Amino acid sequence: MRKKIVAGNWKMNMELSEGVALATGINKYFKSEPLKEKEAILCTPFIHLGIVSTLLNAPGVTAGAQNCSEHKSGAYTGEVSAAMIRSTGASTVIIGHSERRSYYHEDDMLLAAKTAEALRNNLRVIFCCGEVLSEREDNNHFAVVKRQLEKGIFVLPEEEFRKCIIAYEPVWAIGTGVTATPAQAQEMHHFIRELVAGKYGKNVADDTTILYGGSCKASNAAELFANPDVDGGLIGGASLSREEFCNIVNAL
Ligand code: PEP
Repeated sequence: MRKKIVAGNWKMNMELSEGVALATGINKYFKSEPLKEKEAILCTPFIHLGIVSTLLNAPGVTAGAQNCSEHKSGAYTGEVSAAMIRSTGASTVIIGHSERRSYYHEDDMLLAAKTAEALRNNLRVIFCCGEVLSEREDNNHFAVVKRQLEKGIFVLPEEEFRKCIIAYEPVWAIGTGVTATPAQAQEMHHFIRELVAGKYGKNVADDTTILYGGSCKASNAAELFANPDVDGGLIGGASLSREEFCNIVNAL
């Protein structure tokens, strides 16, 4: 059975004390309302990761990072390795977010290397894919997502691929307030699951968690999550509010 997950991507928001307060509030909520058969992941800035990993103790609430280096260690000023992330107690890392792809020019090859390094260090990978608006308008969105997955994670052997969670994030929906319709989300998630089945077989496809991301909030989460191939969400802006985030998790 595939896992149902809501992951919050805090991006470059919140000073340390604010982040600790948010994580403490979410942890407290899920101690009193324990998660059943689902997981909430808080993907914090690196600065917060050690302390947030340590304070989270509600069952099913875990910490993750938003990026990692493709290198093991060494003279890479400003970088953070997968091993360092793992050493904080965090269990997950987001790779290939569209902001990393566009602002930091992270290409398919680099993302494949980052993914491999994260998996080598026993991190689960939330691998992001998704088209920009012009690609959808040109009817290229399926081809773009297929290429991103083929180059980024379909290069992995099955046992490594099984440690990956896929996040479909149409770039035109990220931070814009425009959400993919439930039908658009389902159509792409189904397409992705078929791609996984073609590469790794139906059992692996059935076990693969595919998250939707892009202006998902408490008010629209339930209709997105009701789709058979949508297994949860990767949440940006709405993950910065305890109430919103907990309500999105509850909508799952
Ligand atoms: C994201 O950046 O992963 C995201 C989904 O952002 P938002 O929810 O703010 O659109």
